[in-house]
Amino acid sequence: MIASVLPTYNRAPLNFVKGEGAWLTEKDGRRFLDLGAGIAVNALGHAHPALVEALTSQARALWHVSNLYEIPQQQALADRLVEHTFADTVFFTNSGTEACELAVKMARKYFYEKGQPERVEIITFDGSFHGRSSAGIAAAGGEKMTKGFGPLLPGFVHLTFGDLDGVTDAISDKTAAIMIEPVQGEGGIRPVPDAELKALRSLCDEHGLLLILDEVQCGVGRTGKLFAHEWAGIAPDIMMVAKGIGGGFPLGAVLATANAASGMTAGTHGSTYGGNPLGCAVGCAVMDHVADADFLAEVNRKAGLLRQRLEGLVAGHPEVFEEVRGAGLMLGLKCKAVNIDVVNAGYANEVITVPAGDNVIRLLPPLTLTDEDIAEAIARLGKAATQVEAA
Ligand SMILES: *Cc1c(COP(=O)(O)O)cnc(C)c1O
Repeated sequence: MIASVLPTYNRAPLNFVKGEGAWLTEKDGRRFLDLGAGIAVNALGHAHPALVEALTSQARALWHVSNLYEIPQQQALADRLVEHTFADTVFFTNSGTEACELAVKMARKYFYEKGQPERVEIITFDGSFHGRSSAGIAAAGGEKMTKGFGPLLPGFVHLTFGDLDGVTDAISDKTAAIMIEPVQGEGGIRPVPDAELKALRSLCDEHGLLLILDEVQCGVGRTGKLFAHEWAGIAPDIMMVAKGIGGGFPLGAVLATANAASGMTAGTHGSTYGGNPLGCAVGCAVMDHVADADFLAEVNRKAGLLRQRLEGLVAGHPEVFEEVRGAGLMLGLKCKAVNIDVVNAGYANEVITVPAGDNVIRLLPPLTLTDEDIAEAIARLGKAATQVEAA
């Protein structure tokens, strides 16, 4: 016997029927404070009026047309992304892992067209996550994701997170690119120090490599800048985006410079759904809110408040928590207790967090979280911690 839904997830017995802002209502009527936001997806919270309006008015007009035709909503979203980032051009996908697929293809095609077809290798780091497609799992390389799924897509060189000397040593005449998350999400909220991102940019420049940043989780305002790499004052050649950009509608994108994208001519890549009118109408509404200096200033203010309160929480529960880390509203609590136990105690106290690698629980709340929500978050996480201590 197998469940009618393929059992690849260990699901919590929670059944949410409605969402509003940072709050979810369970079918039994309990209200949960959502500090997970569907893993950094509901950037503007649940049922944001502007997103509901964008989606429903587009739904009344036109759901889908093929990429064989012009799609004005897609053009509008690409224009907004180009205006606010390093990028000259954008390809839309339905997910983060599809963005990873294109990033890998784009990097290889770039060198092929430059007459260096031997440059196929992409350097990646342990603890990283780039999605569950064959390229995504091969890129990240973790055994939990790859075991049993071989033969894996070749051409990835896996290095230790933070090992800059290792990068220098690994670069050869086969290297095409370095791919890295500016803040590792699944790996346990591990930020790459600004100096290290700068050093990777310099190494790419020095050796003529492409820098690919995976901002699927840390992008779209999450860290208090529109994209996390802006803190380091550098720019990638290629960037993967998804999660928050659709605010809950499945949407992803690859952003690139004209140079990095130069091999991707007509017929070299495609997607049936990628960039469809519904997704792009919502994406435009998300960008209209997030790519705004006042909105980002508020994210930073609230992030500072939440972090300060979390430091207090950690200090008050030293047997449960070890430290707070992360950037903006992408925060991790490194646990001393077992992280899953803390997440479950959170459920019992009607607050949602997300487990991550390195025994961390993740807080990825809606960027629209209010000060009252923050006070409630600390109160509920405190109760959860007390419950873990008593167990
Ligand atoms: C979630 C995630 C992905 C994969 O995105 P999907 O939409 O689940 O395919 C890739 N990279 C990072 C950093 C992510 O957090």
